[in-house]
Amino acid sequence: MIYPRYQRMEIRGSGTSVPTLVAGIKKTIFFAYSTKYVSENLQAVRNKIVVFNDVAANESDWKLVENAGACAILLRAAVSFSIYSIFERAGGYSGKPAVNIPVAYVTNEDVDLMGRLITSGKMSSCTALIIFFRSHEVSYFPGGKVRLCINLQQILTNSVSRNVVGELEGMEKSDEIVIISGHADTWDLSQGAQDDGIGLMLSYEVSKVLQKLQLVPKRTIRTVFWTGDEFGVFGAKHYVKRNQAELPKISSALIADAGCFKPSGFTFGGTVEYGCIISEILKLLKNGINATVQRSAFKELASDTDPFFHKGIPVAIMDGDTKKNKYYFYHHTPADTMSVVNSRKLDKCLALYATTAYVIADMKNMMPKVI
Ligand SMILES: [Zn+2]
Repeated sequence: MIYPRYQRMEIRGSGTSVPTLVAGIKKTIFFAYSTKYVSENLQAVRNKIVVFNDVAANESDWKLVENAGACAILLRAAVSFSIYSIFERAGGYSGKPAVNIPVAYVTNEDVDLMGRLITSGKMSSCTALIIFFRSHEVSYFPGGKVRLCINLQQILTNSVSRNVVGELEGMEKSDEIVIISGHADTWDLSQGAQDDGIGLMLSYEVSKVLQKLQLVPKRTIRTVFWTGDEFGVFGAKHYVKRNQAELPKISSALIADAGCFKPSGFTFGGTVEYGCIISEILKLLKNGINATVQRSAFKELASDTDPFFHKGIPVAIMDGDTKKNKYYFYHHTPADTMSVVNSRKLDKCLALYATTAYVIADMKNMMPKVI
């Protein structure tokens, strides 16, 4: 389902790099975790594209791998804060190529991705990276007009997609359900790590954590990965339409779809009483997380919870960056990658999500319906 993986990368040639052939270069990667790692494994760079992870790698390191038979070099962007920031500079100030193999910069996120794939063994020695670029590209037109050419084509058509559902079956009232969810689609520009990969993983991990703790609530906890959220909440709408008879048995629907930050609580849609119950649950985590709850000022919460809310089911969205200051650094952009997911904050999100889902599923009564 997830391999082979195709990843478009931003790439810029170093200012003095020699060009590739017109057809580009297609070779396997040698991932240089550090310059020390390169010197200890120099025989392995032959006929490979060397990806330097260390931003301090300099021209003498380039020469070293060139002499050992490397066919191109990719470098980490030298930026202090990257939101998929692409970068370029000359290799030295001589105006001449520092080495006679192509040298280019890629974003820190893509270097991190390649490092993770190679470390986890997902990127094997037969994996190829294709690069091609030309040096001396003209980008300056003195006295000329600015001209723009746009060519947009509709190349995608509708196709069948499905929600993914899993359950931790309740002990006493297994026909009553608490939904925990995230959405499985994202916009094409981004990898969708924050929107909404973490929502999927949190929803998946809730049941695993509860199983590990040997906690089985009275009601069933149903994990759902919604499809088609971004284009129109299609998966959740379809679910509600197809499962009308089951709706009275859904106690509450939760979603994590607001990025990975230190969790601040929930925005909920439902009665004041429902808000009070969630607020009491959050008090259980006062020392570790100190989260709060707020009622949505809008009739719609703008996510996969909406179709449930309109059927009278109380819903809640986990919050982090409430003012969305930082979320919109990344949201729906190429910057939404694994590099902006902080594992400590993710752990806290999981603690909040799992506790809330468990307590709602284990309470004596179902949550009060929206009036
Ligand atoms: Zn989303």
